[in-house]
Amino acid sequence: EGPVIIVGAGHGGYQVAASLRQAGFADRICLINDEAHLPYQRPPLSKAYIKGSAGPESLMFRPEKFYQDQKIELISGRAVSIDRAARKVLLASGETLPYGHLVLATGARNRLLDLPNANLPDVKYLRILDESESLRQIMPSKTRAVIIGAGFIGLEFAATARIKGLEVDVLELAPRVMARAVTAEVSEYFQARHREAGIRIHLGVQATSIEAENGKVTGVSLSDGRHLPADLVVVGVGVLPNIELAAEAGLPVAAGIIVDEYLSTADPDISAIGDCALFASPRFGGSLRLESVQNATDHARCLAARLTGDRKAYDGHPWFWSDQGDDKLQIAGLTTGYDRVVLRGDPARKAFSAFCYHGDRLLGIESVNRAGDHMFGRRLQAMDRSITPEQAADESFDLKSALA
Ligand code: FAD
Repeated sequence: EGPVIIVGAGHGGYQVAASLRQAGFADRICLINDEAHLPYQRPPLSKAYIKGSAGPESLMFRPEKFYQDQKIELISGRAVSIDRAARKVLLASGETLPYGHLVLATGARNRLLDLPNANLPDVKYLRILDESESLRQIMPSKTRAVIIGAGFIGLEFAATARIKGLEVDVLELAPRVMARAVTAEVSEYFQARHREAGIRIHLGVQATSIEAENGKVTGVSLSDGRHLPADLVVVGVGVLPNIELAAEAGLPVAAGIIVDEYLSTADPDISAIGDCALFASPRFGGSLRLESVQNATDHARCLAARLTGDRKAYDGHPWFWSDQGDDKLQIAGLTTGYDRVVLRGDPARKAFSAFCYHGDRLLGIESVNRAGDHMFGRRLQAMDRSITPEQAADESFDLKSALA
């Protein structure tokens, strides 16, 4: 019992606060927010927001009145240390906040490019609203973008920049785009689609330097000796989980803040959720750290339930999406470790799904412009059911019959 203090007001932090109130939690709730905005949705930052002209308020989960009505105290500032013995959080402002339970929802930050000139104003990253806003503002004056990293965010931005009329080059060290996250079939489809749109994708190469004159970017040199002219560089080379606050308080960390299947750290008064949490997963075996809205919000709901007396191990079903140009990729399940891929639908018709199996066990489904398959995958997982690879490949097999 006692106040719940939440560090980080992203998807996870916001959702814990909202779910606690929904479950009738009556004590103090403080949401410590180090961004100068009301809590907002992150995915549009590389999609609709950067494409459109809607203001920041279009991204907010809730208006300010919601926090007042719900008595959720939004505290602007940064948590700098935790005194576990006294159960207090210290803010950069010098203020201390006592907690009954502390929630670390600190998310992740951009992995920075370690090259000279990488800190020039024409070199941009895309994690927070201020970065997306500043990119949106300078784009109209730019003509040639080089994007470093062909992950989800790099490719989403590439598609938008191309639609906006920029020349676009994408650099990727791996032999295919989104290599860590999707099957070769899906990578190849997106490579072809981005190339059709006029985006140049360079695989198996690395940026070795950023050239500039008078503080303005002029181009990027590649490991294969080529040089690409550019007046804008966007870096999307992954993120690092924000684990330092936990580590400095003596909590175990590895590739994330280590929590058990209840999302509790080694200290029973401190939990961690979302992008920063490396959580024990009985369902998938071992530990996982995921970067998705589903993961952050489902963690948050599970934790809020525990803090209001409904203690259950976290057992969420992962799903994810990415919008790239006119194509929508949706992933249900965790496809890592597959040894067999079965296609349903037809990439040539711009609508297909890759069903990923380990042996005969369906691990997950990557759907491209096949929302029905994606929803099917999520429902199938929720029921702990499967279909055979032969059924998946057979378009005449009625998926609904597997849910009956
Ligand atoms: P975050 O949302 O990162 O929030 C953490 C917050 O904590 C941040 O505001 C941070 O500044 C703050 N913070 C950190 N340390 C402190 C401190 N010491 N004191 C105070 N505050 C602190 N996921 C999808 O599922 N689909 C998508 O299409 C998708 N698109 C994305 C596009 C972009 C551009 C980005 C950046 C992410 C996208 N994601 C997407 C991922 C998704 O947004 C994240 O998984 C999600 O935001 C994680 O929520 P979180 O609460 O764990 O962390």
